[in-house]
Amino acid sequence: MKLRVLLGLGLALLAGACGGEKRPAQRVVVIGADGLEWRVLRPLLQQGKCPNLRALMERGSFGNLRTMIPTLSPILWTTIATGKPPEEHGILGFTDENLQQYTSTMRKVRALWNIADRCELESSVHGWWNTWPVEELRGHMVAGSSSSELAEANWKPALIPGAERQVWPLELEPRVMAMAQEHGTLAQVQALATTRIFGRFAPGELGEVEQELIRQTLWSVQADMTYAAIAEELLRTDPGDLNMVYFGGTDVISHRFWRYYEPQAFRWPADPQLESRMAGPKAQVLLARAIDNYYEWFDELLGRLLQAAGDDATVLVISDHGFHAHSTDKPNPLFITGHHLDGPAGVFIAAGPGIVQRGDVAAFLERNELADCGHILSIAPTVLALLGLPRGADMADEAFVAVLDERARKSALLAPVPTHDTGFRRARATEVPAGMKTDFVKRFQQLGYIGSDGQDANLPPQQQPPR
Ligand SMILES: [Zn+2]
Repeated sequence: MKLRVLLGLGLALLAGACGGEKRPAQRVVVIGADGLEWRVLRPLLQQGKCPNLRALMERGSFGNLRTMIPTLSPILWTTIATGKPPEEHGILGFTDENLQQYTSTMRKVRALWNIADRCELESSVHGWWNTWPVEELRGHMVAGSSSSELAEANWKPALIPGAERQVWPLELEPRVMAMAQEHGTLAQVQALATTRIFGRFAPGELGEVEQELIRQTLWSVQADMTYAAIAEELLRTDPGDLNMVYFGGTDVISHRFWRYYEPQAFRWPADPQLESRMAGPKAQVLLARAIDNYYEWFDELLGRLLQAAGDDATVLVISDHGFHAHSTDKPNPLFITGHHLDGPAGVFIAAGPGIVQRGDVAAFLERNELADCGHILSIAPTVLALLGLPRGADMADEAFVAVLDERARKSALLAPVPTHDTGFRRARATEVPAGMKTDFVKRFQQLGYIGSDGQDANLPPQQQPPR
């Protein structure tokens, strides 16, 4: 162990930063599902779909998770991971004032995995926002990389073959990259897109609009598929004390297919030219289930992760915000029809050791009753409480104790340490290698449009879609 690490650990223990209470949860699994929305989930649960989410709700706590504006993913997911507002954690959007993408080296404070590491706990982090280049820690990290070059297309973390510093520890990289090659091939993405998410279409059934919307979503299908497979394998063979997995596709599909999901919310004027670019009524009906299908697929991935984590894991499923209809009176130029600009509350579901049973599933399904489950700022202190660690007094919120059992509450009431950031040094700034940018774009283009009429709908970028 390096002297600096040893010294840091000594200081952390000396300062009591690591509590010393018995941990209420032996293993915490935080699953982030971007933009997961209760109003989509509720009818699915009523139909008996999404059994894994339902099982968690029944044996644990669930409700609304309040959020903050602007609802940009890098800001919110870093806020969730640090318990600090953006002006303190330093990740203020997708790109900085020089239009360079934010990387892990620009975060100014410790994230949960750094705090865990300092207290000799292991983390396993997969695809979380702004984790490229990977950080050195006990356990493993599979980075979520992104690229400014993709701003006009789709921007969620992904693994890029050939890019450096995506896997920690270094010796794990060949194994992780082999898994990435195996899970998320073009054939697999195509099969999932046609059999599970969008369906198969006869030639001419889709318009150029839908072809492009599908193309923009496939990137996330691939990323979610890959991270899920890697996280599942590592949860099974080498779980961390703290495990964090991020999925972006639930947000991506909701931005693009809300009009098909809730057509009655849209009053677009009749326009023959527009209609000629869009799918006919039959394909529109087929696409009506695209968001539902993605949710059901996410629930299946979640089920596999939960099985790998074991029955005694404490699980949190959270979204950074909810979703609703957008561009209801006239089409957005990019045909983005779902949005979250006004910060609708997201989803909080938790179950397992340390979590109480709170919330009535029947009342939710019948009368849409949802309890408050705190704020995205309360997630980090809540996770620390579950791990038996005190929060930092400089965190913006406290643990959301209403969902915690007696032991975890006791842990949440540990005297806070002034800060967990003592001695935190930001890694040196890293240039995003040019090769990484071009690989990113190449890989994205390779996905092309996957559909039965085989046409590639590579439209020129018009403006940045929302993320
Ligand atoms: Zn979004």
